[in-house]
Amino acid sequence: MFEGMILHFHCRTASPFHTTRQRYANLVKCAPFILGSTLRGVVLDTLVRTCCSPQRLASLESLNDPAAIAEEHSACPEACPVRPFFAQPSLVRFSFATFEGVDYRMMTRIGLSRETRSVVEGSIFTIEAVSPGVRFDFEVVLLDQAQEIAETVVETVRHVAALGSIGGFRSIGLGRFEVVGELQRIPLDERLDQVMAGWPGPGERAKLTFTTPFVLGAGGTPETMGGEALARYVVGQIDRAAAQAGYTVERALSLERADVRIRPDFISRFSYEQGLRENRLVAWPDSSLRFAWPATVDADGLALALALGIGEWSAWGFGRFSVGAEHA
Ligand SMILES: [Zn+2]
Repeated sequence: MFEGMILHFHCRTASPFHTTRQRYANLVKCAPFILGSTLRGVVLDTLVRTCCSPQRLASLESLNDPAAIAEEHSACPEACPVRPFFAQPSLVRFSFATFEGVDYRMMTRIGLSRETRSVVEGSIFTIEAVSPGVRFDFEVVLLDQAQEIAETVVETVRHVAALGSIGGFRSIGLGRFEVVGELQRIPLDERLDQVMAGWPGPGERAKLTFTTPFVLGAGGTPETMGGEALARYVVGQIDRAAAQAGYTVERALSLERADVRIRPDFISRFSYEQGLRENRLVAWPDSSLRFAWPATVDADGLALALALGIGEWSAWGFGRFSVGAEHA
């Protein structure tokens, strides 16, 4: 199992803040969270521009295939902090950020078609935005040799907070934030112990609840991903997540006769590598599986999956879940 370090950032919005959840004719709804891919994108972009050589930047410019970009970065010198982002599997993993005590405000603008493709230039539309002064936290998990870039990541987040912004409508001044309070550095081991607390005992009714959207397998539809098929998929993805953290296990958790309640939905994220939006079918947060806690569970394997997330896009905070007694 890899050693790991979790950087836990406490932040606060310093301007209205928008991250698009859905576009209607004249209203752009805000999501109640910031995608890990958004956070990763802004940190990675800053790192690439400040750390990679001008020659490398020039050759990256012509690329938009993720595999080709990853290959280009793995040719960077050993000391380049961008390298571990492109390791296979990635050694740098971002959580989502969730707002605490969120309140929204509505902002009316004249259409800026460049930023909101659904809004016609010159029309009037409304942006739903998180108010300034709202707290949010997020985490970056650094695995194995990526722990060496911890201070660089911390500096970069501070740099983005001081000079940059995240989310949508940045060109009209949205998305500024500040880092507040003490940064916490949590060893991965400690997190694993934390997440194991409160697990049910053998035979007890248990509940696995997704806390961020879980990407349903390629080609999955709400119909084919129901019931047992979904339970099997989740079991496989738990083992896969553990394996990606250097821990091999077969069936960390079995989910037989699971009672599956999922809320299917679509989500899109901006691909830093491809410079475009990608869409996936997901199980929305609060989707759950209820089951009897099996006699044997590989606690380390399951705890790793819990700490790192499962499924596609889990390096960007998707597929995080909690496990507990059903009625706790
Ligand atoms: Zn580089």
